Amino acid sequence: MAGIYIHIPFCVKKCLYCDFVSDCGTKEDMSRYQHALQREILNTPVNEKADTVFFGGGTPSVYPAGYTAALLELFRQKNVLSDNCEITIEVNPGTVDREKLMVYRKAGINRLSIGLQSADDIELKLLGRIHDYDDFIKTYEEARAAGFENINIDLISAIPGQTVVSYENTLRKILDLSPEHISAYSLIVEEGTPLYERQEEYTFPDEEDEREMYYLTKRLLQENGYFRYEISNYAKKGYACRHNLKYWSRENYYGFGTAAASLVNPVRYTNITDRTKYIEADGDIKRIRAEATELSGQELIEEFMFLGLRKMEGVSVQEFKDKFHMPIEEIYGQVIEKAVDKGLLTRNLSQQTLCLTERGIDVSNVVMAEFLL
Ligand code: SF4
Repeated sequence: MAGIYIHIPFCVKKCLYCDFVSDCGTKEDMSRYQHALQREILNTPVNEKADTVFFGGGTPSVYPAGYTAALLELFRQKNVLSDNCEITIEVNPGTVDREKLMVYRKAGINRLSIGLQSADDIELKLLGRIHDYDDFIKTYEEARAAGFENINIDLISAIPGQTVVSYENTLRKILDLSPEHISAYSLIVEEGTPLYERQEEYTFPDEEDEREMYYLTKRLLQENGYFRYEISNYAKKGYACRHNLKYWSRENYYGFGTAAASLVNPVRYTNITDRTKYIEADGDIKRIRAEATELSGQELIEEFMFLGLRKMEGVSVQEFKDKFHMPIEEIYGQVIEKAVDKGLLTRNLSQQTLCLTERGIDVSNVVMAEFLL
């Protein structure tokens, strides 16, 4: 089944490290955006059922909850949502109250992804986040009280001023809460962000500390019953994010809103990023699309490999054969041999899969680059 992604490009304030398509918006901006979004949804053919929906952003929780519920209703009217749909919304601490959370629940949202990033208030300030740790605790407790039983917490390591000790403190505080899912990424200083422009003013953890944070994440989370199912994602059994797995497994997904991407195999679409133009397009698909690319056979194979290898279960040799009508060795025989010899890749003979070893994960970018033809 397919996935549905809806981009809500509004935030209370721009974080210093953020290069996502988002900015602040007035109530009027949101109302006009909602209108355009509804038109896009109505005009887009979705010829298959979806079993995941993901509201991302931006900060979807600053958007009126009634709008979010109305969008889900629209998909229901189109009869595209399956019965046991995983429906996630990204939430920032301090931007939801019980009432809003109850509207989400009533609309069928059953998974929250809370952007905490750090449990240290100084680090949060440095990132330009709008909340402190207490705001997060309040949001988390409200979410549990509202009945959410599937919660992800986003964390970032390698924040300026962060130490291994403060990062461990963040991890331990989160583990005490026992969320179902934890995403732990390393901070990337993206060009064009205020953090990038002023990076010489900050002290970043050195490479050694960064590695230690990475190993600490892996060790502590696994010791506490989380299994790693993707390079940066950990979950309790049965709680891997079904929506994100679709990206790594290259299943079809339909994106709505500014900058949203879609994959309707073998074609990839991307929407325009300019919100004003998006609103003016009023659901006219031709004007909304920035790009539509039919992926070549080679691109399909490459994506299958480098996205699939992000998953800890790796890629299935049989699936490769079924999809591309040739054994994987015919194209990648030498690359695989070399990576196996170096201890970066391993063959699981019983399940007929290829996956990265611990060492391979450490240098995953280098290994994956070998799979580009
Ligand atoms: S809340 Fe998220 S999307 Fe919004 S500015 Fe901060 S990092 Fe970017």
